[in-house]
This record gives sequence, C-alpha cells and structure tokens, in this order.
Amino acid sequence: MRYVILLLTSCLLIWSSASLCATNPKSSPYFLHLDWLDESQSPSQDFFLYANGSWQKAHPIPAAYASWNIMKILHEKNLIRIQKMLKTAANETHPEGSIEQKVGDFYFSGMNAKAINQEGVKALDPYFQQILKIQTLEDLQSVLAQLHQMGVSAVFQFGQMKDFKNSRQIIPYAMQAGLSLPDRSYYLEAGFEKIRQAYRLHLKQMFVLLGDSPAQATSNAELVLRLETALAQASLTRIQMRDPHAIYHPMALKQLRNLNKSFSWEKYFSDLGHPEFISLNIATPVFFTEFDRLLKEVSISDWKVYLRWHLIQSFAPFLSDPFVKENFKMASQLTGAKKLLPRWKRVVNMENTVLGFAVGQLYVAHYFTPEAKAKAQELIDHIRQALNQDLRQLSWMTPQTRLAALKKLDLMRDRVGYPDRWLDYSTLQIDRGSYVLNLIRAGQFWQARELNKIGKPLDDSEWDMPPQEVNAYYDPSTNRLNIPAGILQPPFFDLKAPDAINYGATGFVVGHEMTHGFDDEGSLFDGYGNLENWWSAEDLEKFHQTADAVATQFSGCLVNGKLPVQGKLVSGEAIADFGGLTLAYKAFHLLPTAHLAPTLAGYTPDQQFFLSAAHLWASNIRPEEASRLVVTDPHPPAFCRVNASFADMPEFQMAFAIPFNSPMVNSKRRSIW
Ligand SMILES: [Zn+2]
Repeated sequence: MRYVILLLTSCLLIWSSASLCATNPKSSPYFLHLDWLDESQSPSQDFFLYANGSWQKAHPIPAAYASWNIMKILHEKNLIRIQKMLKTAANETHPEGSIEQKVGDFYFSGMNAKAINQEGVKALDPYFQQILKIQTLEDLQSVLAQLHQMGVSAVFQFGQMKDFKNSRQIIPYAMQAGLSLPDRSYYLEAGFEKIRQAYRLHLKQMFVLLGDSPAQATSNAELVLRLETALAQASLTRIQMRDPHAIYHPMALKQLRNLNKSFSWEKYFSDLGHPEFISLNIATPVFFTEFDRLLKEVSISDWKVYLRWHLIQSFAPFLSDPFVKENFKMASQLTGAKKLLPRWKRVVNMENTVLGFAVGQLYVAHYFTPEAKAKAQELIDHIRQALNQDLRQLSWMTPQTRLAALKKLDLMRDRVGYPDRWLDYSTLQIDRGSYVLNLIRAGQFWQARELNKIGKPLDDSEWDMPPQEVNAYYDPSTNRLNIPAGILQPPFFDLKAPDAINYGATGFVVGHEMTHGFDDEGSLFDGYGNLENWWSAEDLEKFHQTADAVATQFSGCLVNGKLPVQGKLVSGEAIADFGGLTLAYKAFHLLPTAHLAPTLAGYTPDQQFFLSAAHLWASNIRPEEASRLVVTDPHPPAFCRVNASFADMPEFQMAFAIPFNSPMVNSKRRSIW
C-alpha cells in the first residue's frame, strides 16, 4: 500500500531505513571505525573496499534482509526503541483518541496473531462483494474509486501534487500504475523469465487461497499477467519519468472526454467524493489512452479478476499466515531475503508508515536533544555558506545564471529534526479489534487527507517523511530540504566526534540534499519551486554536457560483475553525491578551527573526512536485490557512490596520495558544483 504519493522528491536512499553493530573496541578513537577498514586493499584501487572491507566480512546479511548497511542497522536500532515505546503505550490505559491510545492499540492489534489468523480475509469480504457485483463499466469505475480511497494500487495512481507551474497551488493528478512486479521491464524484457514464471505460480497460489479451483486459479493468473503486461507496455520508463515536462499535462475535463471515452472522470471524482475537481494533471497520457482501449476490449469479468488480485495483494502481508507466507515467497524471489521478518518488526514498520508522525512525536521526545538540533542547524548553515561561495566562484557560469542560482539558494528553506506542528490524527479511528480494519481505515484516512489538500493553499508546515526515519530529502516543488531526527545519530552524526567526521558524514548528506536543488532534475525548478527555466542557453548546454558525462561515467559501474548501472537513471543522485561531498569538504575547511583539527591514529583530518564519508555506504547486498535496484533505484550502488564520486575529487587524491594512473582517479574529471 502506498499512503503518501511523492512526485520527484529526491531522498538520500531507497532503504526505508537497525543495532549499530557492536563496534570492535580495538578501534580507537571509536568514531574513526578503524576496524571497518581492510588494509589488505589499496585505497588507490578500490577505496570502498579499503574503507569498508572488514565491516563487510563482519556483517553478513541477516536472513530476513535483502541487504545490510548502516541505514538498516540504525533502522533496527530505532525499531527496538520504538517497540519499547509502543509496548508501554499498549500496556497502559490512555484517553480515547490520544496518540498514545492509537499507537498502543495499533501495536496490540498487529501483534494479536491469534485474532489475525482466525479472521483470515473476513475484513476484506465487503470489498470482494463489491467487486463481485460489478456488471457495467460504471460499476467498475465506482469500485476502482473505492479501492483507491483505501490506498489500493489498481490500474492507476490518483493523488495530489504541487502544480509544477505554480507550486503554491495543489492540483489532482493521475499517473500510470497497476503493476505488481517492481518495474515495467520485469514484464517486457529478456532476463526476467524466471521471475515471471515465479509470479505466475504466486498468482495462482493466491487465487487458490481465495477459494478458486486450481484450474480457475491458473487461468486467472494468466489473465492478470496479460493485463498487467499491457499496462506495462503503455507505461513510461523510470528514466523517461525523471523529466518533469514528460509527466506534466494539465487538462480540463472537457479535454479528457476525448482522451478517455470509456472512462468518465466526472463520475470517478464524484465517486471519490470530490465532484468539485474540474481538471487534473494526466501525468502519463499514453497510458490513459491504452487504459481506455483496455476498458473497451477487456471483459468485465476479466477486470473483476484483476481487481480481486490487487485487493488481496495490497493486504496479503497483514492477513492470516498462509497469505503472509505466500506473499513472502514471492518477495524473496525478488530480493533474495531468506526469512520473514519477525511479526513485531513488521508491525512497527507498518506503524512507522500509517502513524509515522504520532510515533515520531514520541520518538523525538525521547531520542532527540535540542543540542543535536542546534549543532545540525549550524552544520547546514555552513554547507549553505560553502554553496554560496561556490556559486559565486564557478568559472563556467555566466553572471545571469549565477544570480538566478544564488537567488534559488537564498530561497531554499531547511528544516531539522521534526515538524513544528504535528499531524492531526483525530479523524483516524484505531482500536484493538481487527488489524486489517485498522489498516483499511488508515489507508482511507491518508487518501482523504491527500485529496482534501486539492484546491487549498499549500501547508508549509508539513513534512513528507516522519522524524524517526533514517533518511533525508529535498523537494524541488517547494525548494525545501528536510533532515529528520532519525539520521542525526552515529555514525552519521555524533556530538562527541570531531568536525572532520561529522562533515564527512552528515555534511555529505546535507550537501547531497542541497545539491538536489541543482541536479539535472532539480535545476529545472526555480527558487519558488516552479518549473521555470532560470538558465542561460549557454550555461544550460554546458550543464547538460556535464550531466551526460556523469551518466556515462556511472554506466561503467557493473553490478553482480555484469549488469551496467543505468547512468541516465542515477545521474541526479550521482550529481548530488559529488556535489554533496565537494560542499561538505569546502564547508569543513571554512570552519575557523579547521586548521587546528588533530591527526588521529595516524589519519589526517582530510583522511578522516573521506573515511567518514565512505563509511556511510558500508553495506552487503544479495545478488537478487542488486539486480532489482539496477532497474528500480535512482541511486547508484553503494560501491559506486564511493568510488566514482571520490575519483572526481583532487582533494581526495591528495589526502591519500593516490597516483594519477589509478582507478581511484577519474582521468576525465568533471566539476559542476
Ligand atoms: Zn538524493
């Protein structure tokens, strides 16, 4: 299920965020993590392995995970902290409607395995009945609207977005969706045959669990695969979707009548309870033309099979054991994970999603100090200062673009830790009854909340990420960067560590998010978050050439030894990494105390800085997951984030005395920010 829909928001990592590994006490001082280094590796050949090789050997991937890295370790640490708070809330009596009552009851209902297993799919019965009753295209539309209201993904996604051309205005949008495999290429391209076969069997098994005969279930499986393949064919690629112009087609209802003859948007809006919507952004018009054709050609009975599948698929991970196990079987084919996460972790993860800001409110009260907030704010101010200086000095930029870029930076807002105003959950009913019903109501709450924003002024106080999340993001539509409390803990951020360490880690993260305002995608939006060109033609041409060079450089990174990274998919994140590292380094050296920074355990301050930055990406990943991320993740793989970005920095070369002809020096160095 998807509760909050974000268009184009760039975050630091795909991982939604466990115990920071027991660090070997022999490392001294602890924040250098010298025991993570593999000194049998040469920093000139592969800095990632040099910095993280021993960490990799000491941290095999736990069976329940597809990959293991610092963010996941911090996430696990947070899960333990949050579970403790939730258990306390669940064991006490709280006033009805308080956030403590809601978070405690949600946890209680999710942990009540006996009730969940007894209930089976019963909570979904009314919705299956609705699907069963569909007879006409009109009925089909109404049920689709009902499923969308619960956050079930079927055929397309519908939600709210800031108007790309006028970011203060919230408009509705509809976008391609309705697939179950991770990407369109899983349906269409060679190399995914094994997954498609596993998916066929999975579909069949799920229909059998719903009570269909094996023969019927087999034919239903084929039908779903066929229909989803048709939707995949009409879908834009992820690379195409990175272009905001390609996904911006505002249309009035009248125009839509020509595009969609079989689907009435008026009726859909009215079924959603929003007859006042009179226009929307059809993000992917070709997809909706194909949807219209499918509505004419695919029988109502076939659509009913498709909708049954999407309903069960959305809730399978939260139902009785047979559904959960079958769902995990398919997930493990896609990611390589060997074991299901224990129930309590699954429940806390879900609670972080549906009640994320309620959990966050309790989290920051326990685990985030005003000192950490102040220190992080100071660091952000320094990175900003470094970017300001950088923009003033860039030799390739003309004065006109320079002024516009400085204005954009000036208008960029940053927020640290947690929102000033907490999200209001008062209309969401959570109780100790059915877990699935809690989830259905939460889905309806979130979707209603999103749609109610349409036509109203932008609420500036809102965050798109709860404070406990180990991540950060930049939103080009508001020109705003958010650094949640979750990431402001070691090894990212340590109040006791020297500046070189914090600038190499958190400085890198902050610089990365700030650079998103100036990457190949973010640079298309002005300081007010509007899709307006602020570049001179000459500078834009130079910028595109460099962005293309970045894409080419990253296409040279091979995953599992053979799969090339999609340079055009990762170029925005790659630019942000390189820019972020450069800004953090400059900001560190702008500190009046930088020249006093001590050499520690034989490592100079600059060496500490680069080791700290490389340590962020210490990770292990299963081959299945690595292949999946090459197709779906706009972030380059971890080894490539370190090696390719560092190889572009003369300061890194100098710090570790790397010879010119080594792989850790890019012969075609580029400089953007
Ligand atoms: Zn990013």
